[in-house]
Amino acid sequence: MNLYELTIHEAHNLLKSREISSQELTKSVLDRVESVEPRVGAYITVAGETAMAQAELADKAIAGGNITHLTGIPLAIKDLICTKDLRTTCASKILENFVPPYDAFVIKKLKKAGAVIVGKVNMDEFAMGSSTEHSGIKLTNNPWDLAYIPGGSSGGSAAAVAADMCIGSLGSDTGGSIRQPASHCGVVGMKPTYGRVSRFGLVAFASSLDQIGPLTKDVTDCAVLMNAISGYDAGDSTSVPMDVPDYTTFLKEGLKGVKIGIPKEYNALPGLDAEVSEAVKNAVKTIEGLGAECVEVSLPHTEYAVAAYYVIAPSEASSNLARYDGVKYGLRDKGKNDLIEMYRSTRSMGFGSEVKRRIIIGTYCLSAGYYDAYYRKASQVRTLIIEDFKRAFKSCDVLLSPVAPTPAFKTGERAEDPLKMYLSDIFTLSANLAGIPGMSVPCGFSTQGLPIGLQIMGNHFNEEKMIKVAYNFEQATDFHNKKPKL
Ligand code: GLN
Repeated sequence: MNLYELTIHEAHNLLKSREISSQELTKSVLDRVESVEPRVGAYITVAGETAMAQAELADKAIAGGNITHLTGIPLAIKDLICTKDLRTTCASKILENFVPPYDAFVIKKLKKAGAVIVGKVNMDEFAMGSSTEHSGIKLTNNPWDLAYIPGGSSGGSAAAVAADMCIGSLGSDTGGSIRQPASHCGVVGMKPTYGRVSRFGLVAFASSLDQIGPLTKDVTDCAVLMNAISGYDAGDSTSVPMDVPDYTTFLKEGLKGVKIGIPKEYNALPGLDAEVSEAVKNAVKTIEGLGAECVEVSLPHTEYAVAAYYVIAPSEASSNLARYDGVKYGLRDKGKNDLIEMYRSTRSMGFGSEVKRRIIIGTYCLSAGYYDAYYRKASQVRTLIIEDFKRAFKSCDVLLSPVAPTPAFKTGERAEDPLKMYLSDIFTLSANLAGIPGMSVPCGFSTQGLPIGLQIMGNHFNEEKMIKVAYNFEQATDFHNKKPKL
């Protein structure tokens, strides 16, 4: 077995017993990146030299008896999480040369735990998209079939994990951006409860929806990374001061007595692919067979989630992205003498078409004459969606559903049709609107050989229940053991 194929927990055991060194492991991952990056295109920046230096430090720490579950483990970071002295582009021309002067809270935690940062991975520009085709830097291909998209916006993270170009990764999820690419690339991805993980140093897209979370090769690794990044941070006013359980302790619990909710509206949603529906139904049967009990629940406002999200997210984005004005940092059109002209021209040059579309929609929705009709209305719908989940979780522990209505689509297929792209977010958006956690675990393959994910959603701060269901399902199936042929 090649070292780059290891999971976090496997690599940790070998590092701990000193059978391998972090330098060997990191070198193996960097070599793997060099050999498959031309085909996959997951990385925006590979930080080879600093990664090797961090690996050397990790080896010294291990020799001194200091080892955490992440010491010496090579990770890839979505390129909108600030890394000190390491370029953070948000896959945008406007930040193409931005080097943050500080680390995000999660990066500080990872570094403290001794992790190695291999580099920064591709995404849709400012995390706006579902295919990574909106990256202003490059395209990323699905490792299972290079003609297909890897999903998005954390497409670089999912592709890098699936193609063994890192041992684990961090992404962000505003409306499905961790779960959907995880589903399309056959890896595990979790969006934690809003407030569980600090957003300090995460470049903001829609502040009331954004969360950072792990993308990993299996459920155990997801629990390990959740342990490392969760917890209160005074630097993020929405971070919740609550104890963090050791998520790995829930892996070994069985499913007896666990109640699984199946939202009845989800089967009737338009565009649900027959193979996805079949794979999810089979997964539900498997989970029932493991001792869980299934109940039908109702989420009556599901059909309004896309409309509400695509008002709220662009509105918040239009406000958050106002800071890219050519003055404070990032790109500036130096050819303009007039201030307003400079703003206009810098933003015209620096933002891609999808980001411009969101800024225009959001500015319109927030304008005095339309605020009540759009933003206020969408916020009211959001409250109804929150109440739907509150009601549903009275009769179950977790909800099961598809992650995306179809497996990955071909590159270019939906690029010219934003509405089609937006509609494919139907299963994932509600969790962000309600602030609840959600995850994707591999549950099948299409006849074409593309991965399909099962979504598990939990009540606020119930990540451990999701992890328990996901782990039991994973151990009863072997989808996670399959690898793309590259
Ligand atoms: N696809 C959704 C969007 O384009 C969600 C993106 C995300 O979660 N960052 O807004």
